[in-house]
Amino acid sequence: MKSDQLSWLGLCGLLSVTTLQAKEPATKMLSEGHPPNVVLILTDDLGYGDLNCYGATRYLTPNLDKLAAGGVRFTNFYVSQAVCSASRAALLTGCYSTRIGIGGALFPSSTIGLNPQEETIPEILKKKGYKSGIFGKWHLGYQRKFLPLQQGFDEYLGLPYSNDMWKYNLDGSVATPEQNKNKASYPPLPLIEGNDMIKEIKTMDDQATLTTRYTQRAVLFIDKHKNEPFFLYVPHSMPHVPIAASSKFKGKSDQGLYGDVVMEIDWSVGQIMDAIEKNGLAKNTLVIFASDNGPWINYGNHAGSAGGFREGKGTSWEGGQRVPCIMKWPGHIPDGIVCNKIAAMMDILPTLAHIAGAPLPKLKIDGINIISLLKGDLNANPREVFLYYYNSNCLEAVRKNQWKLVFPHRSQTYEGYLPGNDGIAGKTGNIQVETALFDLRRDPGERYDVKELYPEVVAELSKIADEARADLGDGIRNIKGANVREPGRMEVPEPK
Ligand code: MG
Repeated sequence: MKSDQLSWLGLCGLLSVTTLQAKEPATKMLSEGHPPNVVLILTDDLGYGDLNCYGATRYLTPNLDKLAAGGVRFTNFYVSQAVCSASRAALLTGCYSTRIGIGGALFPSSTIGLNPQEETIPEILKKKGYKSGIFGKWHLGYQRKFLPLQQGFDEYLGLPYSNDMWKYNLDGSVATPEQNKNKASYPPLPLIEGNDMIKEIKTMDDQATLTTRYTQRAVLFIDKHKNEPFFLYVPHSMPHVPIAASSKFKGKSDQGLYGDVVMEIDWSVGQIMDAIEKNGLAKNTLVIFASDNGPWINYGNHAGSAGGFREGKGTSWEGGQRVPCIMKWPGHIPDGIVCNKIAAMMDILPTLAHIAGAPLPKLKIDGINIISLLKGDLNANPREVFLYYYNSNCLEAVRKNQWKLVFPHRSQTYEGYLPGNDGIAGKTGNIQVETALFDLRRDPGERYDVKELYPEVVAELSKIADEARADLGDGIRNIKGANVREPGRMEVPEPK
């Protein structure tokens, strides 16, 4: 073990959790050596039940299961919103996405993006000498000023938004306006290197190369930066539809193409772990794996599993918001622990800032340092409250510990609709949801409304919601939050 790791461990043993949460001691702790590398792997639309260690049964995910066995597996880990752009905005800034004006998913026609004024994880870590690379899907604005190299990353290869934002039908033909007006209007789906398109993704064979392309670049990045601290972000395009696996995995699972695609992601994790090991970096690298939102259930056999939670992507039910999350950091996170406490995407930034000894962003953030959970402190509960926002800024529910209070809102629903298959979407419904209180300890499936039985809990959670509305706003009640910020905007729309 290197001396910097020993000093880190030794000091951690002496300091209380409270002290650890302060900013300064972390800087001192790491003054003798370089702070740990961080590898953050994100999947797109992978459900809570899609890994073996979370209940998947018809294919194998040995590398992710090994990651969990050597670290912490979270069971109550939340995304900021159950949709791509909003989820990623929260991850990279440590803010509820509604605070920074990014709601839902951005499209090729969007003229907004992640405001360059917001400080991102790579910008925070750069202050401590980190080099950062992103190999995968960005989805926080496709115009140059919003792309990764302008938001703190040193290297970028990937797609600027979702892999279904292209003009092709599943049979490879170009969509006509009569078939799909949106699709027909999409520009070529670019594979971007740095700031420039190097290739158009035009076919399903092209889609099938994405997981391997990202993986190869991730491995090269580790090799290249092994002697300095790095932040490697691998946001896979898969298993977002249209799903595709390379010949290495096509036909390998007992769950059709979806299983093949998840197996390839698992392989990718194994390749990255091998590169870390080969370069002697295992003890000084924190690896995080998570998903951006729950499964897109109306895609049937091309969708994942919410693992028994209610509904999926595009809803504030647990199936949309709760995702698998695993973190491994040998010598710091105990082996094989399960964390049942609430944690969220926004918490990653302040936790990494603490670990690296980097200052927090100057503007207000929502993330909480969860280093105590990583270190296996069973009594710690750094995040008691989680706010379920959807759309631009609609507060649909609030959770405190085991209780979740749902507010009246319109919700997409998958219930009662036959899903599509083989890449074709099935119909979904839209329902009015009324006030309900769920005890997520007894009823994780959100089936039994107990608001009449626990009026004092309803009152307590309502008060938390009112405070949130004043701070962050609530589109359902037409309340503008006092502390929300604008997204980045294009001054002049770029010509199409
Ligand atoms: Mg997604």
